[in-house]
Formats: sequence, C-alpha cells, structure tokens
Amino acid sequence: MSKTDRLADLKKEYTSCALCKELVNNRTNIVFGVGDPEKCKLVIIGEAPGYYEDVKNEPFVGKSGQELNKLLASIGLSRDEVYITNTILCRPPENRNPKAEELKNCRARLDKQIEILNPRLVITLGNFATQYMLDTKQGITKLRGKVVEKNGIQIMPMFHPATILYNGGKNLHIFEEDFNNVAEILKLPPQKREQQRTLL
Ligand code: SF4
Repeated sequence: MSKTDRLADLKKEYTSCALCKELVNNRTNIVFGVGDPEKCKLVIIGEAPGYYEDVKNEPFVGKSGQELNKLLASIGLSRDEVYITNTILCRPPENRNPKAEELKNCRARLDKQIEILNPRLVITLGNFATQYMLDTKQGITKLRGKVVEKNGIQIMPMFHPATILYNGGKNLHIFEEDFNNVAEILKLPPQKREQQRTLL
C-alpha cells in the first residue's frame, strides 16, 4: 500500500473524531495536514490550527504560512514537497494552547502520520510544538537549529514564522541559517536553491 493510501486511511479514521469534547464544538474542520506523502522528506509540525487554518482546512495559511512558504522557497522547496501538520487537528477556542488531554488524544494520529511519511527530518515550529515533541521544558531560544534524535526521529526546532512578523524581519537571518542547515541535511541541490533565491 502506498504512503498516500495509508495516509488517506488514517485521515478517514479521524473524519468524525470526537475525543476532545471542547474542540468538537469549536471546530469547522479537522485540519489533517497537507503535502505530497510520496515526495516529502521533511515534515513540519506546528501547535494547532488557528482561525484561518480551521476555516480553510489547511495548516499554516495566513501571514505566518506565507512566511513559511517563502522560507521553504529559499531552499528550493514548495509546500507540495513537504508535509505540514500540527500537534492536534482541531482549533482550540480563542487559540489557547492545546491541553494535555487533547495532546494525548491526538498523539496516536501524529505518531502514525510520521511513521507513514518516514521523513528524513521533522521541523517543530515554535516553543509549544518543540517542547511537546522533545518532551522538554527547555525553551526554543536554546533549542533552535539543533537536530535532536527523539524516538528514532531527527527533529530540528525552529522559531515560529510568526516571529518574523512580530520582529519586523529582524530575526530573518536566524531562519535563513536554520533553513540552510535543513537544505544540507536533505541534500538539496545548491543550483536549485540559488535559482529559487533569485525569485524572492
Ligand atoms: S484534536 Fe485530534 S483527538 Fe482531539 S477531537 Fe480533534 S482529531 Fe480528535
């Protein structure tokens, strides 16, 4: 069975998931994830769907998503060539952090998604997703850019792309450094990366 089919089966299992009572009443969609399972070597995990993600049924849309797209393009990757999902699939009310019980409820799905996709690298975006995936209390400032192996998965934490907007682009060089390291790890062809950069 192909990765695409296995992922489609998993998605079906969660079509009417009602494990998290508070989230069921708040969500418009169950935002499963986007990307080409056959091509992707990189999985990106954020915290949870926000307003636009919930409405459009796609993770990382809106302004942060646009920043993420630009960063991916800077190393020659499109959204289709990575897979993007979140720690939980349903939008929390008022965009609060996911609760421990919700994370637990959605964990088997996340683990299964990663197992099926079998990526070369997982990026966690922001403090919440990073601390959750690495099971640590250490902050993102210390952890960003360093690849850590956890349960057999290579994980690289990064700042959330929303911070580019908050900081008026002052921290963009940190993202460029981290994404260049991602390109090295994934062995992306330098020529393609240079071509993409000139398009930005
Ligand atoms: S967050 Fe995950 S476990 Fe909770 S209701 Fe949504 S799909 Fe189900």
